[in-house]
Amino acid sequence: MKILGIETTCDETAAAIVAHDEAGGASILANEVLSQIAEHAAYGGVVPEIAARAHVEVLDRLIDRALDRAGIGLRDLDGIAVAAGPGLIGGVLIGLVTAKTLALVTRKPLLAVNHLEAHALTARLTDGLAFPYLLLLASGGHTQLVAVKGVGQYVRLGGTIDDAIGEAFDKVAKLLGLGYPGGPEVERMAESGDPERFALPRPMLGRREADFSLSGLKTALRIEAERIAPLAERDVADLCASFQAAITDVVVDRARVALRAFSGVAGHPTALVAAGGVSANGAIRRALAALAGEAGLAFVAPPLQLCGDNGAMIAWAGLERLRLGLTDDLTVPARARWPFAEKPAAAVAV
Ligand code: AMP
Ligand code: MG
Repeated sequence: MKILGIETTCDETAAAIVAHDEAGGASILANEVLSQIAEHAAYGGVVPEIAARAHVEVLDRLIDRALDRAGIGLRDLDGIAVAAGPGLIGGVLIGLVTAKTLALVTRKPLLAVNHLEAHALTARLTDGLAFPYLLLLASGGHTQLVAVKGVGQYVRLGGTIDDAIGEAFDKVAKLLGLGYPGGPEVERMAESGDPERFALPRPMLGRREADFSLSGLKTALRIEAERIAPLAERDVADLCASFQAAITDVVVDRARVALRAFSGVAGHPTALVAAGGVSANGAIRRALAALAGEAGLAFVAPPLQLCGDNGAMIAWAGLERLRLGLTDDLTVPARARWPFAEKPAAAVAV
């Protein structure tokens, strides 16, 4: 089985081919990603119209290149998967219209994938992980702790009530005059900084629900930065290290609470999984691995090139859906908002 995956929901244009056979398992035959970081850098964030124009310009060539790399033609595909949301609607429409057109002319099944669901299922592509598992999905736009019970079965155990974790990294980087996207820059500066110099708050620590709130932490950092301005390189490094340490503590505490709630909704987890762009962060990865170890669980995080947005995860989620007969027709809409995990019916006892 070979699936084309198309991703255009934010600032990466991506096309990939993923193959699967019951004997050999899954393999990524091509994974083409064109990031628009350079186009958006001057604005310190993603500009929707610039993103949409860039997707239009490169998507068809990228699909061609993915097919070439995989050494196959359109006729060899078993399905066309596309992220139909959530995301910036201009970009989502471009990917979806392209996928619908390909599905129509090739008469292959169309698979409209939820971008977040694709992040959630990536650990099954890379590690063949069995359900159920606890997922921390942390990206530029989303932060959620989810019990992944099966394809299409996701229970939300917690999420952010204000900023996403990646967004907090990006805003802090901007505040400190670092580049965009902020996560990698903050992590790089933090390496040489003192994580204890600034006593930043750990919002929500110890709360019974596995929710996040990060805007207060960001404000606390801004106040510290203003207090000691002008900032020397050493100050910026210490602020980054202190911020990263605070976020890491919060992430571990929130994940611990979600692990406790997990058995009430999904039984015993096979693993703790991190996905989304923030899961590239070494400090957060190490802390989550230690938490998983404490709980006697495996820790699984995708390899770095699959942490951020990519087409392989869309292709894989499409493949999972196709195996269950979950195909879509040409009326499937593009969705700017598309929650993928439901809150549990009753309050979860922890
Ligand atoms: P995504 O939304 O999944 O495309 O991921 C992009 C987000 O992940 C941005 O907000 C980045 O700042 C963040 N990010 C990427 N690498 C890192 C890192 N090493 N540490 C923290 N955040 C990161
Ligand atoms: Mg992105």
